[in-house]
Amino acid sequence: MRQGFTHTIAGKGEGSAASFEVINPATGEAFALCPDATREQLDRAVAAARQAFPAWRRTTQEQRREMLRAFGEAVRARTDEIAELLTREQGKPLQRAKEEIQRSLVNLAGILATKLENEVLRDDARGRVELQHHPLGVIGAITPWNVPILLAMPKIAQALYTGNTIVLKPSPYTPLTTLLLGEIAREHFPPGVVNILAGGNDFGRWMTEHLGIDKISFTGSVATGKRVMASAAGTLKRVTLELGGNDAAIVLDDVDVKAVAPKLFWASFGNSGQICQAIKRLYVHEKIYDELCAALVAIAGTVKVGEGFEEGVLIGPVQNKMQYDRVLELLADTKRQPGVRILCGGDALPRPGYFIAPTIVADIREGTRLVDEEPFGPVLPVIRFSDADDAIRRANDTRFGLAGSVWSSDEARAKTLAEQLEVGTAWINHHLGVEPDVPFGGFKESGIGREYGADGLKHYSEIRAVSRPIIPPRPAAAPGAKP
Ligand code: NAD
Repeated sequence: MRQGFTHTIAGKGEGSAASFEVINPATGEAFALCPDATREQLDRAVAAARQAFPAWRRTTQEQRREMLRAFGEAVRARTDEIAELLTREQGKPLQRAKEEIQRSLVNLAGILATKLENEVLRDDARGRVELQHHPLGVIGAITPWNVPILLAMPKIAQALYTGNTIVLKPSPYTPLTTLLLGEIAREHFPPGVVNILAGGNDFGRWMTEHLGIDKISFTGSVATGKRVMASAAGTLKRVTLELGGNDAAIVLDDVDVKAVAPKLFWASFGNSGQICQAIKRLYVHEKIYDELCAALVAIAGTVKVGEGFEEGVLIGPVQNKMQYDRVLELLADTKRQPGVRILCGGDALPRPGYFIAPTIVADIREGTRLVDEEPFGPVLPVIRFSDADDAIRRANDTRFGLAGSVWSSDEARAKTLAEQLEVGTAWINHHLGVEPDVPFGGFKESGIGREYGADGLKHYSEIRAVSRPIIPPRPAAAPGAKP
């Protein structure tokens, strides 16, 4: 059993009297003990972050950029170690774990290249108004278990770059790699600027209620996002909520099926389908429906599913037992639907751990749980349509609104349709990925606010209008006029 992981509080490593087990999803067995932070530790972390804030905010953007850059290089130097631990706690193939770290560093660099400058709104006969971006104070960041490093790094980067300090809590399912980030951060930032503590859901709730935290940057499920918002109301904290999605991809009849099939497959099954913006509803025109289904099934047949350290594995397990049970429950419900065909997969793999065979489901419609809910696992419903406008209407008929895509060899036609998707990101002949200069977030119940890009940085700041109005003298009152 691995031990010795520590929180980062006020620049120092610290354990807790209590700990919880971290399970390797490829075996279903505990492999490490993680310290379980107390409320008192949270209070100290928040106090340290508050104390560090005034000096940190007075550093220049250039100084903060340099420190974050050096932090990123130190993370890069420990890629192999972090990736090994990431595969063990999260389950993803080792090469994908390395890529997650690399992508988080690309995003860090992109955030540091983004400009957020004060602007002069006007300087004219009415006076001068300057808009200044003022840091909020202490950011409370809460992350989920699907891509822990890819989500923690930009929250640290955006918070610090804009002059805030941070208290970050990873998911209790995947806390260890994020604690390693804290270990590295201790060497690179003044004490209190970065605090990272592992804890359960209650710990997250304490953060959302805490008087010393000014904003919550939350990534996770819609249900928890609503709890976060309700709880943050008590102190009128700012919130950014990056929540779930049930993304639709709409494939028109003029695509090159062989060319698009692998792209669609990996945008659905990458990270075992556990990506907020993965394709979770695939709408396919009836003319190419059977051909595309066959191409997807053929790809599924060539993909090796297994433990992330096995050679050639491309799809790992579902990350935790709760999610595994949920996906199996959705599959059981799907099998009860009349007329629905399971083209491949459909069951758990007969081995230890939380493995589910990549599953493609045909002849399924809205009104079933698999289509209407976010499965967050390696299961893809393929839905038939005959009219593109109807497909758009059906794609939009949901409370989710994270992302979506339209696929066609006629780009102009795809763009016209994509512009009708009620989503934060609408792709054309592409699906998946975040670019650090492009604001990312959801419509409807998929979230509030944006991360990345200048818009994302604005959500880590408050706007102060510094105004010197020039008020023209009033014309002299006419004799006898009432005042
Ligand atoms: P979750 O909501 O269960 O947990 C997320 C985090 O919230 C964890 O750290 C958890 O400990 C914490 N938490 C739980 N209850 C809390 C409470 N009451 N107050 C404060 N914090 C609390 O989500 P999950 O199952 O870990 O992650 C999967 C979900 O995340 C999916 O819905 C997925 O789509 C979504 N997600 C969204 C994005 C995005 O950018 N939009 C990215 C990745 C994942």
